[in-house]
Amino acid sequence: MAQIIPKNLVSVESNWQKELATAFTDPESLLHYLKLDPRQFSEDVAARKLFPMRVPRHFASLMHQQDRHDPLLLQVFPRAAEFDKVAGFTHDPLSEQHNTTPGLLHKYRSRVLLIVRGGCAVNCRYCFRRHFPYADNSPSRAQWDDALTKIAADETINEVILSGGDPLMAKDLALADLASKIADIASVKRLRIHTRLPVVLPHRVDTGLLSWLEALPLQRVMVLHINHVHEISPALVNAVSALKKIGVTVLNQAVLLRGINDSVDTQVALSEGLFDAGILPYYLHLLDKVAGAAHFEVSTGEAKRIVREMLLQLPGFLVPKLVREVAGEGSKSPIDLHCTAD
Ligand code: SF4
Repeated sequence: MAQIIPKNLVSVESNWQKELATAFTDPESLLHYLKLDPRQFSEDVAARKLFPMRVPRHFASLMHQQDRHDPLLLQVFPRAAEFDKVAGFTHDPLSEQHNTTPGLLHKYRSRVLLIVRGGCAVNCRYCFRRHFPYADNSPSRAQWDDALTKIAADETINEVILSGGDPLMAKDLALADLASKIADIASVKRLRIHTRLPVVLPHRVDTGLLSWLEALPLQRVMVLHINHVHEISPALVNAVSALKKIGVTVLNQAVLLRGINDSVDTQVALSEGLFDAGILPYYLHLLDKVAGAAHFEVSTGEAKRIVREMLLQLPGFLVPKLVREVAGEGSKSPIDLHCTAD
């Protein structure tokens, strides 16, 4: 087995876990912290029962005080609109909830997705997996082995994507063990990690994580999830710099969200901010139509207009691909910017 588990990687609570435990989970405390009047949100807070609120203190510290329209706050604060039933918005927008192997999603030809952990450090209100039955998709060690056996049996798979929830919610000892087993599969050459943790809790990129990632004999890619330039903090820049120093490619995917980043200026600022931080823009997703998130939707026509304008203002490598995910499709579906349909 690939030897990537450092001797000093012990199973104790790390600083990032202690920090995670202090996250805001009740709306009133967050409003108090931001010096906002709870009466302005009295109809909204009940929506937490649809999907719990969770906001790490670092992420909250990036919000502007006394601004009820802060673009980071709007991503994570429960809203009354989540109760609206809107045609086309469903509990399982990508038809992911009928797996034969717990924790393993084989959506694309050369790649598989492992649901490493249910749960995230932050609960984004527009999350397409907000209704995902993580309890049925949290594999035991034996089920890991089953999933890994299936991956090893299919030589077309050359990339394993760790997803969730957020895979970096798992402890490094478990991640290093899993990654070393993946590295032992001959056809796999790349490990990709989809995570928002370095954004909302940059201390997650600690020596434990860096040590096993550095030792892993695979190409390593980390895809972050940043929707607004205000999410790029000095602590995140340091974390990205440490990842790049050990050879990790760092990309970003964002979701186009009404009232948060649905303007050309906001998107241009995001792309510039990402590149300044050493991160390449990768995808800009249209919203997945998950029940409770319809109020975030930006029309396809508006999205195309924004990205066409970005192409005029930015070099091509700073313009993310505009895509939508369609259940059952073998890849993300790129949006034709010049097609007049939609
Ligand atoms: S970090 Fe990603 S998976 Fe987690 S709640 Fe946000 S959108 Fe969903």
